[in-house]
Amino acid sequence: MTKNLSVKIIISLVIALASVITPETNLLACHKLPPKKIIVVGAGLSGLAAAQNLQQKGYDVLVLEAKDYIGGRVKSETVNGERYELGASWIHGDKNNPLADILKKEGASLIPTEWSPIVYYKNGKRIEFAEDPLEGFYSHIEDIKEENGKDISLDEVWSAFAKKNKLTIDEINDFRSLLAFDIETETGADLKNISAREYEEEQEMKGGDKLVTGGYDLAIKYLAKNLNIKLNSAVNKIEDDGDKAIVTTAAGEVFSASEVIVAVPLGVLQKGSITFTPELPSYKQKAIKSLQMGNLHKTFLSFEKKFWEDADVISIFKNNETKWSSFINLEPVFKKPVLLVLHAGENAKSLEQKTEIEIGQEAYETLKTIYPNAMEPSTVVTSKWHADSFTLGSYSYVPVGASLTMYDDIGKPFGRIHFAGEHTTSEYPSTTHGAYLSGLRVANEIQ
Ligand SMILES: Cc1cc2nc3c(=O)[nH]c(=O)nc-3n(C[C@H](O)[C@H](O)[C@H](O)COP(=O)(O)OP(=O)(O)OC[C@H]3O[C@@H](n4cnc5c(N)ncnc54)[C@H](O)[C@@H]3O)c2cc1C
Repeated sequence: MTKNLSVKIIISLVIALASVITPETNLLACHKLPPKKIIVVGAGLSGLAAAQNLQQKGYDVLVLEAKDYIGGRVKSETVNGERYELGASWIHGDKNNPLADILKKEGASLIPTEWSPIVYYKNGKRIEFAEDPLEGFYSHIEDIKEENGKDISLDEVWSAFAKKNKLTIDEINDFRSLLAFDIETETGADLKNISAREYEEEQEMKGGDKLVTGGYDLAIKYLAKNLNIKLNSAVNKIEDDGDKAIVTTAAGEVFSASEVIVAVPLGVLQKGSITFTPELPSYKQKAIKSLQMGNLHKTFLSFEKKFWEDADVISIFKNNETKWSSFINLEPVFKKPVLLVLHAGENAKSLEQKTEIEIGQEAYETLKTIYPNAMEPSTVVTSKWHADSFTLGSYSYVPVGASLTMYDDIGKPFGRIHFAGEHTTSEYPSTTHGAYLSGLRVANEIQ
């Protein structure tokens, strides 16, 4: 054998050997390993988004859900053949909103809500405003932020604004019900609790408010497809022992996984319904304690006949009384005479104590003060999120003294434990798209 020939043989052998240990064969070897196990706690939008994403990447995913249904705060109820959304109804901005894209693809319609025209009534009579009565107040909030002093509540800002502009008692009372509609039902909190410094500092998706018809849960069904979901499985213990995560349910079932995603609402974390071992770090505990859950109560009123005018919202000024002060006209969407009333904060909590008959009667008492031909509602459908022990409120907000960055503190991973949900994103908190995107964020944390 010549020297050249033996070199050639050696090179061929090396090439042949290398072709046996290619990246593909390495990959094949890896694929023979069982896929990493992931447990997701909570089958709301955030948990399902994370679970679906990870399952598609080849992980072995188990979702544990406390309730007997999936979707969490996306929940509809069908009464007399009509579907009412008890949780989320709107997409807040459908431009570059992946959740809006899913809904459209799955067959939902997104109908713009302009929140205008609004008609105003006082002492039973229509009144008019030349311009938006609250415009000056909103710029006043921005001025207060620029002063950069100690954080105060929006109620304090309101009082200072009223004083500076020498508003009469009548004006103060009237505009207070508009603020209840504009700000309190948006945050789910009373003005006296909302941080002025952090108000509307989060990001906003473009495209305006769109009411989802055809079922918000189309997104839930899409995300839950082919997932392994165990209902009626409330988790009460999560332990990271250094090698694995151990998850225990209230019924005593024990599961283990490489990583666990906690996608339960802020209220559940605050109540301490789940014990973490080791204890969560103090910055995270502080953030969980400091941010707050708001309350939003929805009342859908369905009537035999429409007795109100064509307006988006009917506002009724009632001497500093913020209950039953704004009725949203859903007739153009439902194609049936339906009004929706939102109540926030303490009002929402107190309405949860009442029956639907009592609530319908209260609404009717107000409506007949402005419409002589008003009738009692034929159907009343209401929500109860504060009393729901696996939600404990509607969605998070920043109270006086807390800050938006606390959302990110809650969202940071801790060992094998990851956190998703509307309360884990300072970018889009309190929304469905925020919850959905937080699910994708945690899915990407896991390697
Ligand atoms: C009345 C109301 C109106 C709203 N309107 C809008 C709107 O129009 N537009 C909008 O963008 N957003 C709206 N939202 C907010 C939006 O619905 C939420 O931000 C979003 O759905 C939250 O998703 P999530 O995955 O973070 O939490 P959730 O949907 O609450 O999911 C958490 C899940 O965890 C489960 N869970 C709790 N504890 C445990 C446990 N111990 N073990 C296992 N599982 C547990 C719960 O049962 C639940 O299924 C509204 C919310 C409410 C209540």
